[in-house]
Amino acid sequence: MADELHYQTIANLSVRLAKRELSAVELMQAVIDRTNQVEPKVRAFNSRNEVDALSQATAADARRSAGESLGPLDGIPIGLKDVIAVENQPLTASSKMLANFVSPYDGTVAQKLKRAGAVLWGRLNMDEFAMGSSTENSATHQTANPWDTSCVPGGSSGGSAAAVAAGQAIATLGSDTGGSIRQPAALCGVVGLKPTYGLISRYGLIAFASSLDQIGPFTHTVEDAAIMLQSIAGHDECDSTSYRTALPDYRDELKQRQGPWKLGIPKEYFGEGLDPEVGAAVERAIAHYRAQGCEIKEVSLPHTRYCLDAYYVIATAEASSNLARYDGVRYGHRSKAAKDITDLYFQSRAEGFGEEVKRRIILGTYVLSSGYYDAYYLRAQKVRTLIRQDFLNAYQEVDALITPTTPTPAFKLGAKADPLALYLCDIYTIGVNLAGLPAVSVPCGFSSSGLPLGLQLIGRPFEEASLLAIARDYEQAHDWHQRHPQF
Ligand code: GLN
Repeated sequence: MADELHYQTIANLSVRLAKRELSAVELMQAVIDRTNQVEPKVRAFNSRNEVDALSQATAADARRSAGESLGPLDGIPIGLKDVIAVENQPLTASSKMLANFVSPYDGTVAQKLKRAGAVLWGRLNMDEFAMGSSTENSATHQTANPWDTSCVPGGSSGGSAAAVAAGQAIATLGSDTGGSIRQPAALCGVVGLKPTYGLISRYGLIAFASSLDQIGPFTHTVEDAAIMLQSIAGHDECDSTSYRTALPDYRDELKQRQGPWKLGIPKEYFGEGLDPEVGAAVERAIAHYRAQGCEIKEVSLPHTRYCLDAYYVIATAEASSNLARYDGVRYGHRSKAAKDITDLYFQSRAEGFGEEVKRRIILGTYVLSSGYYDAYYLRAQKVRTLIRQDFLNAYQEVDALITPTTPTPAFKLGAKADPLALYLCDIYTIGVNLAGLPAVSVPCGFSSSGLPLGLQLIGRPFEEASLLAIARDYEQAHDWHQRHPQF
C-alpha cells in the first residue's frame, strides 16, 4: 500500500492522516521517492526543495499531535505552477527573464493553502509566461506526458498536469487564460477546474492577460477539486476583480445537488477538426447522462468561430501591457551587453524573452496602437460581449454544456512547429475564458493508442457547485480516474 500513497486522493489521505494511520512526513517522503523515481522521464518540475517540504510536513504532524482541529488539506503535498508566488521560493514563469527570481511574498492562494496546512511542494514547469499549449515554450526544458513520454503534456500548465498524473504531487494549481488548466488536464488524464472569473484572487499570480487569467486545481477526482476550490476561493482585498459572493460548501453540495439536469450540446463544438475517437468518447458521455434521465438539447453558440480571433487580440494586448514591467531595471534579467539606458531595455528584453512571448508582445502592441485600436482591440471587445451573450442565451434553456476539452489527444513533442497549429488546440476552451465562465475537464476514456481523453463541462457563472456535481455524476459511473500511467 505504502508505495501507492502518491496516487491516493486528498479525501482518502485526510481520513488516514486524521486517524493517525499515516503521518504527513511519511506521505511527503512517499511523494518525494516517487518523484525521484519518475522525474527523469517526466521532468514536471522547475525546482523543488525536499528539505523544506519535509519540514512543512513535520510542522503538520506537530499540529496534529497538539490536537489542533485540521482541515482536509493539512499535511497534503501540493505543487504550484511556476507562476504563483510563494514567499522565498523561486518564481520563474519558465522564462529566462525571471531565471533567478525568488518571490518576496505569498500570493493569496499560497497564503490560503498555507493556512489550510498544505505542504507547498515544488515549482512546476509551464510555457513561458503561460503562453502555449504544450509546455514546449518553456525556457527551461520540455516536460513529457506521463502516458507516453514522446508526447506533450499539454499546456501551458503542463508540469502541473503531468505531476498529478505521474503521482509527483497529490494535487497542483495551474492558471487558465485560454485553456491552460483544462487542456493539459485532458491530455494527462486528470481533473482540471477553471473557476468563474473573479472567484479566485489573482494576487500573486504573474499576469498574462488579466481579464482572462484564473487560477484553478488539478486533482485525481472531482471531490478533490471541490476541496481545493473551497480552500482557495473567495473575495480578496488585494484583487479588485475578485468577487464578493457567499461560498457554498462545495464538497457537501456534491451530495446535495442531484440530477437529472438539463444539458446542452453546442453544435459548433462537434465539427471539422474533431478527432473521431475524442468525438466518440464525448458521445458516450452524453449517452451516460441521457440514461440518467437528463434532458439533452442541442444548442447553438453562433459566435464560436470568432473566439480564437478575439482571444488572440485581447490576450496579446493585455500581455503587451503586463509584460512591459520586465525592463531589466527593476528586477528580472539585465543585459550585460548594453551600451546605454535605452539599449539596456532593448537588450534585456531581447535576451530575456523567448520567441513566442516576443511574438505576442509585438502583436499586442500593434492591435493597441493608434490607428488600429478601433479596428482590432475595440472590435474584439465587442465580439467578446457577443460570445458571452451566446452562453447566457444557452443557459436560459440548460444548466450546463457538454463538449470535448480538446480536438485531439496528446500529440508528439515537436509535432506542431507552426504557432497557429498550437493556437487551434484551445478551440474548445477559449470561449469559456472570454465569457468568464467556470468549466471542468474530466477524464472520459482513452484513444486506441492509450492516451487519455477529456470531457469538458461548462457551467453558469459562480455555479461551480452544480458544475462539479454534474461532473462527479459521470466520474462515479466510470473508472477512468483510477487508471494511472505505467513507467
Ligand atoms: N494556449 C493558450 C495561449 O497560448 C492559452 C494559454 C493559457 O491558458 N494560459 O494563449
